[in-house]
Formats: sequence, structure tokens, C-alpha cells
Amino acid sequence: MFDTDLIKTDFPILDRKVNGCPLVYLDNAATTQKPRQVMDASRHYYEALNSNIHRGTHSLARSATATFEKARITIASHLRAAATEEVIFTSGTTDGINLVANVLALSGTIQAGDEILISTLEHHSNIVPWQMLCQRTGAVLKVIPCLDDGTLDQAAFKTLLSPRTNLLALTWVSNAFGTIIPVREMTAAAKAVGALVLIDAAQAAPHLPIDVQTLGADFLVLSGHKVYATTGIGVLWGKASVLNGLPPWRGGGEMIKDVTFARTTYNELPFKFEAGTPNIEGAIALAAAFDYINELGLARIHEWECHLAGLAVQGLKDIDGLRLYGPQDHSGIVSFGIEGLHHYDLGTLLDQMGVAVRTGHHCCQPLMARFGITGTTRASFALYNSETDVEAFVAAVHKTVTMLR
Ligand code: PLP
Repeated sequence: MFDTDLIKTDFPILDRKVNGCPLVYLDNAATTQKPRQVMDASRHYYEALNSNIHRGTHSLARSATATFEKARITIASHLRAAATEEVIFTSGTTDGINLVANVLALSGTIQAGDEILISTLEHHSNIVPWQMLCQRTGAVLKVIPCLDDGTLDQAAFKTLLSPRTNLLALTWVSNAFGTIIPVREMTAAAKAVGALVLIDAAQAAPHLPIDVQTLGADFLVLSGHKVYATTGIGVLWGKASVLNGLPPWRGGGEMIKDVTFARTTYNELPFKFEAGTPNIEGAIALAAAFDYINELGLARIHEWECHLAGLAVQGLKDIDGLRLYGPQDHSGIVSFGIEGLHHYDLGTLLDQMGVAVRTGHHCCQPLMARFGITGTTRASFALYNSETDVEAFVAAVHKTVTMLR
């Protein structure tokens, strides 16, 4: 289905050994490895274009500006945004959510008594900024419960929604369990009661096509490093009509039109929300990363990752005391626990065999509490993983279980 041998040649790090064994990298939900094409784009920027953008008149400044703005166009087109200026560069998902939370407070959009609805599946970065916003404004945080199968309780969601709901902030794909949330339907229901909707697409962007126009949300956030680009770059997409009505959060260069000591007038979108020198190289790398995945095709990537997750589940299912979390057919994430084995011990011993998985609470402590656990072991697949990787992972887990029991 997928020539992973060929794809792996784009990712130099996958060639290395860890603890004397070939690296089997299955911590992709934490961060993905970077293909040469992305690293080449970064290197080209520093070797040929490096300059500050938007203000310089010299050739380098103009080339850097043009390349940076071209990256914005590529990203807007990848997200199917109605307008390029709806793409705001951030440092990542966390930064994007904090930006939205702060401008909603500053603008008075969220007020005392308003309800902010999130779900039990959220990453801490889609919980804590809203808690902080509630403390600041007197708004109330409500949480959609999660069912035993790791999906959201849709009946409870419908009862929680009301005209008091001012904002629904929802992950698209759960980083801890891999559950894919029906964000389109839930967004439509939230819009019907007049709420704003923010979608955390940190885990969706590497696996699913995004069309912000059909999604119907007001904001969508993602991180570059989870989608084969570098760290420190991310995107906040917002509907122009909504963003235009919101004040800036950070002040400084770039976000201004005119400054006097008496008053400042603010720049237009997207610059209004991009104070200071941005991560120029990161934006260029992110555009290169989207080009890379689009060449392979997101539908094929997703199908392949689900295939690998299915193989992994098949390989693990006979282990005594295995508990799988979340619906396994959903995405390329296999999250599990084994009775009597601590996930840290499992993760440490897998690492000795070159297998990199994530163990712990995955920045989802409330979700772990809901299931009465402190963490899981999570294997998360990416486009470069092969069936051989799955075999090595399954064999390593079996070996560890035998050693520890
Ligand atoms: N949301 C989800 C669903 C995530 O998986 C993550 C990272 O793991 C984040 C938000 C935070 O992303 P970042 O640390 O890149 O800001």
C-alpha cells in the first residue's frame, strides 16, 4: 500500500540505532520526525534568504518576506481557508489557544456566567487556558463526559449545550486514546445555540484533511512539529469576520499601523495578531511539510496508519491483562495498559530494544482520572512506519511482559 522503505530514506534520523538496536520510532503523537524536504527548506532559508521580513527594502528582506508570505498561502490552501489572512502564525497549538482565550477575555466576548464547554478527552493545553479565562471572567467551565469506549457522550453533550454556552473548545483527535471526535456535527450543534467553536487540530493535522470552511468552526489551531515541520511554529486559523472583531493580544512591532505616545492604531489581519519577529524559518518549513504530506495524500497516510494500528492490536491482543483504551479502528494510535506492569517500566524496557513509545498521562490527567489510571503506554504511528516496525514493537512488548512477570 505504502512504500515505507522509500519514505524512510527521506528521514535520516530513522537510520540511527538506539541502545544498539534499529530505532523504531512510535512516539509520533508527541512529535514527528522531519523529512529532508522540510530540513532543506529550513536550511535554504538560512543559507540563502535569512533576513527580517516586512520592513526591509533590500533584496534579502524582500525575498524572505515573499517566501514567508508564500508559506502562508500554501498553508491557507491546505486548510481550505476562505482568505490567506485568516492564517495567523503562532508558536504552536498551546500558543494559539492562549491567544484566543486572551482576546475573548479582552474583548468581553466571554463574561461572568457564560459557559465554556470542553471535553474529558482534552489535552491540558485545551483545559488550562479556559480555566484561567474562567477565573478571570467568572465564566463557568463545563465538561462533556467520556464513555467507557473512549468516545464522547453525545447525549450528555446535547444536554450541556444551552444558550449560555459561549464557546465549545474541542479536540478533533484525542492524543491519549486516538478517538476521532465528530467535530463537524458537534460544531453544527454548538453553532445552533450561538456558541463560538474552537477546534484543537494538533492531532488531526498529521492524519486528516482539513477544510475549515465545511468544518463550520470559528477557530482551529495546530502545531507544526506534529506534522513533520519544526518546533516553535503553529497556526491559528480564524474566520476573518470573527478575528476582525477581536482586539490584539500581544503588542509590539508588526501588529501596528501607527504609533504615537498618545495612541496606537492596529494593523490588519493577519499581522494584528503577530507581534514581533515571527518564526520565519518555521513557517517556511511548515509549508514544505504540508507539501510533503499532500504529495503522499492524507487519505492514504491515514489508511496506512490505521492498518498499522490494527496489526499492532492483533499482535498484542493475546497478552494476559491487556486493556486497550479508545476505539482501535479510529486512528494510528494504540493506547494500552497491562495488568501488573507499570507503563514506565514497559516504556523503559522497550527503549532498551530501540522502541520509542510514550508512557504516562499524555498531558491528559483528567482523562486518566476518569479511567482510574495514572497513565498508559501509547504507540502512535506515522507515515514512515512500516509493518516491520509493528513486528519489532509487538515482539518487544511480548519480551518485556515475559521478563517482568
Ligand atoms: N492538543 C493536543 C491534542 C495535543 O496532542 C498537543 C500536544 O501533544 C497539544 C494540544 C499541545 O501542542 P503543543 O505542545 O505543540 O502546543
